[in-house]
Amino acid sequence: MTAPVSETALAHEDPLFASLPGDIDVSFEFFPPKSEAMAQTLRNSVEALAPLGPRFVSVTYGAGGSTRERTHAEVVRIQNEAGIPAAAHLTCVAATRDEVDDVARHYWEAGVRHIVALRGDPPTGETRYSQHPGGYANAADLIGGLRRIADFEISVAAYPEVHPDSPHAEADLANLKAKFDAGATRAITQYIFDPECFFRFREQAEAAGLGGEIVPGIMPVMSFAAVQRMSGLCGTAIPEWMAGLFEGLDERPEARQLVSATIAAELCRRLYAGGVRQFHFYTLNRAELSYAICHMLGLRPKGLQ
Ligand code: FAD
Repeated sequence: MTAPVSETALAHEDPLFASLPGDIDVSFEFFPPKSEAMAQTLRNSVEALAPLGPRFVSVTYGAGGSTRERTHAEVVRIQNEAGIPAAAHLTCVAATRDEVDDVARHYWEAGVRHIVALRGDPPTGETRYSQHPGGYANAADLIGGLRRIADFEISVAAYPEVHPDSPHAEADLANLKAKFDAGATRAITQYIFDPECFFRFREQAEAAGLGGEIVPGIMPVMSFAAVQRMSGLCGTAIPEWMAGLFEGLDERPEARQLVSATIAAELCRRLYAGGVRQFHFYTLNRAELSYAICHMLGLRPKGLQ
């Protein structure tokens, strides 16, 4: 049987990953470990990814500030032991302004200069976010507080598919603008699977006069069921073809990993073709997938380039 012309043309185009110069900046996100075994996994992952020279790594903050100490410990440890600039995520949830300010001051005193400033999600058991009495109202308000404490570098969250609490895309963009105006220098997006969705968002942000850097968040899929659950909550669309690709792989972790790397690498390649040079990886504390994708994008351990 003869293949359709378009299919043949696609298959004969240049190899997707040939000769990429690795002219990209990457950052890696981790979550604070809950056990000694998980702490070891995290240490191994940081060690594996460090040679790629990330411009920063970041550590998340558990719902309701539940990981305050563990986030602090990991951020400081990574910065001191691995020598990578580390950013601490910080939210407004379930804390007064004074309490949040104290956490930020401790970071500054420990040498941490970068905060990912977030409103946060409602604490477990609550469905809607409500401002803590005496707390910061939202991320933009938190940025104002951080600016009064010290000259932090500040990253924030952005939502190409619109935050579920937002009435519409314009309001969400206006909120992002308020965060840049308050002092953020970079927005990291909720994870996306469709490059066009990122390009549209970037265009809308430019048209709305947003000047800051917007970095796509890349989620290499570890568990498709978990990603489906998360996407239901955060509003990221999962393309139908992706469900088809993960079908039947629940009991085949190695095959799943290969499929996952292929999908994420293609997404990054298409983003790269559209001019994207910064990528933020949600590593889920595992190095290999993110490492493989960076490698395919041409990134090599520093000193080997
Ligand atoms: P904001 O920017 O404050 O706003 C959220 C929504 O509310 C927006 O849609 C906005 O339009 C609307 N809004 C805000 N203020 C107003 C207002 N005054 N009037 C009307 N609407 C308003 N969560 C954690 O708990 N810990 C983490 O470590 C963490 N890290 C994250 C990292 C990244 C890169 C991303 C993308 C998300 C992260 N989250 C984290 C999730 C985040 O906390 C949630 O998405 C949360 O619901 C919104 O936080 P935000 O900072 O985007 O909020």
